[in-house]
Amino acid sequence: MTYLNVDEVETAIALAAGPPNAGFTELITLPNQTWEGRTCHAIRVHHGAAARSGVYLLGGIHAREWGSPDILVNFVQLLTDAYRNGTGITQGGAAVSAEQVRAIVDTLDVVVFPQANPDGRHYSMTVDPMWRKNRRPADAGDPGCPSGGGNGPGVDINRNYDFLWDFPTTFSPSAPVATSADPCSEIYYGPGAFSEPETCNVGWLLDHYPSVGYFIDIHSFGEDILYNWGDDDDQVTDPAMNFSDPAYDGKRGIPDSTPGGDPDKYQEYIPADDRHTLITLGTMMRDAIQAAHGRPYTLKQSVGLYPTSGTSDDYAYSRSFLDSSKDTVLGYTIEWGPQRSSIPKSFHPDYPDMVPIIEEVTAGLLAFCLAAARRTLDAALADAHTNG
Ligand SMILES: [Zn+2]
Repeated sequence: MTYLNVDEVETAIALAAGPPNAGFTELITLPNQTWEGRTCHAIRVHHGAAARSGVYLLGGIHAREWGSPDILVNFVQLLTDAYRNGTGITQGGAAVSAEQVRAIVDTLDVVVFPQANPDGRHYSMTVDPMWRKNRRPADAGDPGCPSGGGNGPGVDINRNYDFLWDFPTTFSPSAPVATSADPCSEIYYGPGAFSEPETCNVGWLLDHYPSVGYFIDIHSFGEDILYNWGDDDDQVTDPAMNFSDPAYDGKRGIPDSTPGGDPDKYQEYIPADDRHTLITLGTMMRDAIQAAHGRPYTLKQSVGLYPTSGTSDDYAYSRSFLDSSKDTVLGYTIEWGPQRSSIPKSFHPDYPDMVPIIEEVTAGLLAFCLAAARRTLDAALADAHTNG
């Protein structure tokens, strides 16, 4: 066994949405072709009346993080097989029952987009293993970037979303924000927010599946589960101090933990209930990951890794703050191992080392979906009581 190549990921998703599973799956064709002309697909898993909530799982944004599409293909195959056959799912020491599989598929829209940057993945797997970005070509007249070792033109898709994207304006000049305006940098934010077809495809799914209430972007590596926000420390007391107010431009991105403290005192507002839910569901995901193969991932706020701008999880969560007609989408980023475990550190470990990682993250995602389904069912029950 080895990592799936670009075509194999597409084939696996098409098969999972094939005839035996047609009653509870939908193959989704994303509207924007990549720079190299590839068409991307996602799959929605749900059975029955319109879902009241949904979980959106994204993978393959960073090209060199080879395991993320493999994790999501494994997740989709196990979930669809188990639902069709009426069985449970076991991953190492973690398990969900047949009844729990039914609860997930009958309650939620589970939208899975496993390979959002196929051009980058192909390039990483065939030319430059450290490639991270998409394959946007250098602009005409651009003198060009040195290439190799992950260097070259292209955009870091996970700095290209419309959330505080314009970091030279929105962040403090002294913020250690991990993004760059240099087209040769591997964290180049692009010529504009949503300038890239891959970024637009991720956003398109949020627009077209409004049932989605939870979003998880799969990355490596770190053995971490990160939750909103990523730009600065969370605060629950001052709704007016938030990303949408330009009065705070130039002040964001210096966490209180910075040596010398935070001279600008900016913190990002998060409603206490959202923060509580993020931590509660994130803890269930962490515990299931640990149950699979004993590895303790760390649950923490995204900014605890480093301050970021233009990322997917914060964009997904920010949408309902700007447009009250949209429902809340709580955002996570998983950074799968190896970090603290004994596996050699790599964005793409030797495949035998990747297998338990695939299993543990799949276990975490299943536990997360189950918790989200239960929360949805509880809310429906509470509504029925109120209305009855
Ligand atoms: Zn990544």
